[in-house]
Amino acid sequence: MTAIIIDGKAVAAKVRERVVAATAKLKAEHGIVPGLATVLVGNDPASEIYIRNKGKTAKAVGFNSFHDSLPGDASEATVLAKVKALNADKSVHGILVQMPLPRQVRDDAVLDTLDPAKDVDALTPYNAGLLLSGRAHLVSCTPAGVMMLLKEYVGDVAGMEALVIGRSLLFGKPAAQLLLAANATVTMAHSRTRDLKEVCRRADILVAAIGKPNFVPGDWVKPGAVVLDVGINRIDAGEGRTKVVGDVAYDDAARVARAITPVPGGVGAMTIVNLMRNTLIAATAIHGLPPLDI
Ligand code: NAP
Repeated sequence: MTAIIIDGKAVAAKVRERVVAATAKLKAEHGIVPGLATVLVGNDPASEIYIRNKGKTAKAVGFNSFHDSLPGDASEATVLAKVKALNADKSVHGILVQMPLPRQVRDDAVLDTLDPAKDVDALTPYNAGLLLSGRAHLVSCTPAGVMMLLKEYVGDVAGMEALVIGRSLLFGKPAAQLLLAANATVTMAHSRTRDLKEVCRRADILVAAIGKPNFVPGDWVKPGAVVLDVGINRIDAGEGRTKVVGDVAYDDAARVARAITPVPGGVGAMTIVNLMRNTLIAATAIHGLPPLDI
């Protein structure tokens, strides 16, 4: 078997078109321009690239984009004051505080200060709780992207055995909740899972978010499974170059899977566009307008 390659870029482009159209409509009919604010503490080069891309994309889809850089030694109080100012700023509908934060700034303190209505990364307990309660509003961007890819390439996942490897707040936990809400039979695996190979071999849908290059070998993949590889790992490609690979040994897995996401160009392509979608959803809700069908 040779797997279908799941084209995240193509699916992301369709979502982006819908976001652009709905943004133009919101502006034309209500004079509202969604605003996305990003906050970066310190100067981690990877985070700087992510933040720059988010700002560029926000402008490209028709949003206002705001950015604040704080020094790496900024106190927690300084970061919280910035978040409070953005909470109060009426031109801002989405706030993204880039993680990881320096040690002196507690993630939880930031998330407890962030207005859940503007929590476009969906990391606050309020938005996580809504998802758990079956009343999802703002949903974490990458898991939402995985569900969009499944909708496009699988359709109904009801009754399928879905495995999520990884239990982070950003990806694993919301991904499992979304799969459960879609009526899959969900297993969550993590570093303490026993006999992960056997657990993987049962999965009709295998979602890997581990952060370890090529961690899942091809012979762990059930023949005919759908593989969604969330990992983004930079590895040495020789001659001083690096390349990005996922958490699944792609070539071997692609020989047995029914469909598989490449890295890059698969799941990763969905994240930024869902951040834009969340900002638009947040802007609509903050202004008391009916939910958008995008
Ligand atoms: P994370 O917070 O580091 O979580 C990693 C998870 O993997 C943990 O739950 C951990 O288990 C589990 N794990 C580690 N070693 C394992 C092992 N040997 N066997 C089974 N499970 C193991 O990472 P994350 O933020 O979820 O991200 C995971 C990967 O996805 C990273 O490569 C990241 O770059 C990527 N990612 C990409 C996007 C995107 O496409 N835009 C978005 C988010 C994440 P424990 O909980 O037991 O420690």
